[in-house]
This record gives sequence, C-alpha cells and structure tokens, in this order.
Amino acid sequence: MNIILLGPPGAGKGTQAKKISEHFSLPHISTGDILRENISNNTSLGLKAKSYMSRGELVPDELLITIVKDRLSRKDCSEGFMLDGYPRTIPQADALQMILTESGKKLDAVLNISVGDEELVKRLSGRRMCKCGASYHVSFNPPKKDGICDVCKGELYQRDDDKAEAVRNRLDVYKKQTQPLIDYYDKKGVLRTIDGENDIPRIFEDIKEVLEQYE
Ligand code: ADP
Ligand code: ADP
Ligand code: ZN
Repeated sequence: MNIILLGPPGAGKGTQAKKISEHFSLPHISTGDILRENISNNTSLGLKAKSYMSRGELVPDELLITIVKDRLSRKDCSEGFMLDGYPRTIPQADALQMILTESGKKLDAVLNISVGDEELVKRLSGRRMCKCGASYHVSFNPPKKDGICDVCKGELYQRDDDKAEAVRNRLDVYKKQTQPLIDYYDKKGVLRTIDGENDIPRIFEDIKEVLEQYE
C-alpha cells in the first residue's frame, strides 16, 4: 500500500510512522530525516537546506521533489511506501502525482493526523530526538533513562527548530502552505482523518483500523 502521513509539526507523524512501518512492513520515508542526515553529513543538499530549516521555513520544492523522486524509485518501495512530511505544498503534491503516474502506482490513503495548536506547542517544546531516528517527549513519552535513547543508548538532543521562535513560524508555515493539502486530498477521495489528540497507543489502533482495508 502507498500512503502519506499528513499533519502539522508535532502531530505525531514520526511516532506513528515507526509503528506503522513495523506493523505493515512499509519503508518509512521522512523528508525531515533525509534533510537532517544531509546536514550532518555536510552534503551540498544539506548546505542548501540548513538555513531554511533552522528558521522553520520550508526547503524549496525543487529540492524536495528530487529527493522524493529518487527515494521512491528505490527497490524497497516497489511493494509500498509511507511518506512522512511530504508533500507539504500543492506543487509537491502535484509532482508526487506525476511521479506515481509515471511509475504506474497510485495513492491509497492520506492519513490526516489532526491536533490543535496548544497541544502542538507542548509536544514540540518537549520533544527530544536521537540520531537513530527515535523521538521522545520529556513528559508524554519519556525514555527509560533520562536523556538516553531506549533503542540505541544514544544521547538525546533538542532540535534547533523545536525552540520557541522557530515553532511559531512552523505552525504559521503549516497553515499557509500545507493545510490546503487537506482539501486537495479530500477532493481526490483518499483523505482519512485521525484524531491525533488521543494517546499514542489509541491513535495507532485507529490508524490500523483504517489501513487494514488497504492490505
Ligand atoms: P511529528 O513527526 O508529526 O512532528 P513526533 O512524532 O515527532 O511528531 O511527535 C512530536 C512530539 O510529541 C514528540 O516528543 C512525541 O514523543 C510526542 N507525541 C507524539 N504523539 C503523541 C501523543 N499522542 N500524545 C502526546 N505526545 C505525543
Ligand atoms: P515536523 O514534522 O516536526 O514539522 P520534519 O522533520 O518533517 O518536522 O521537517 C523539519 C523541517 O524540514 C521542516 O520545517 C522543513 O524546513 C524541512 N522539510 C521537511 N520536509 C519538507 C518538505 N516536504 N518540503 C519542504 N521542507 C521540508
Ligand atoms: Zn537512538
């Protein structure tokens, strides 16, 4: 199955993506993770993306379209994929449509994880990340040992763009540039909205119920 996780920053896309990926054996394609990896490896893509990301702005569409086109052409996506954090603009969604049509694929579902602003700010400000891709929350989803990743024992850190100033900007950017995608996919008949204010296990149960139809 081919699916997209849509939702504002902090909605829980990454958290649910890990569970979905394991349960349904789908490759998890997080454009944020790909960009952060490029930044830490000092690639030319990372260099181009860095200043946008630290301000909480979107990285230009053409860079993202190239990333996603390359990634979706890899063998592990032939049986299905899950996009997390892409598309974030209408041009990105149109480009995805082209990529899928060219390769004879189609989108099964867009899971729209819905969470209000007040909760988003709490989630983003308490988020802690690990280099291995795991994410935690200081109070809502704490690691077993303070500051240490349960999975790989790595040291947790706070993303620069999870600090107050960038968070406000990211929520504005989401409303202006990404929210229109809800309507876009609703019109295509693939939108499935999930109440993202519930706790992590409950949200995953709701997602499973939706996705079981497409297996
Ligand atoms: P996104 O990928 O959508 O930006 P994350 O999955 O990284 O979101 O989650 C943002 C933060 O909120 C993380 O600190 C995560 O541990 C926490 N979180 C995720 N889902 C929930 C939930 N249902 N309730 C409370 N906190 C959550
Ligand atoms: P979150 O889910 O918390 O918003 P992500 O890890 O998905 O964070 O994205 C972090 C940052 O990476 C974004 O604020 C943006 O600068 C950049 N980015 C990720 N995906 C895209 C995309 N599809 N288009 C443009 N910029 C992106
Ligand atoms: Zn880790």
